[in-house]
Amino acid sequence: MECEVCGNDYDKPLLIEYQGQEHTFDCFECAITALAPKCANCGTRILGHGDEAQGQIFCSAHCAGVAGFSGLRDRI
Ligand SMILES: [Zn+2]
Ligand SMILES: [Zn+2]
Repeated sequence: MECEVCGNDYDKPLLIEYQGQEHTFDCFECAITALAPKCANCGTRILGHGDEAQGQIFCSAHCAGVAGFSGLRDRI
């Protein structure tokens, strides 16, 4: 199975179903690259719970605040 991010042919691929679609990766790093949402402010990959505001996702309440959304609290 070929990793859909880097094309590496790996005999023990990660098969991840995400939002109804099957994806094939050779490692978690590639899965994260393909699937993890990015903070709308700083572009950081969001691996845990992000903060969502009006359809945009942020890595932290700080970034949401920078983008003009206040009242969000960090969930750690
Ligand atoms: Zn890969
Ligand atoms: Zn951020």
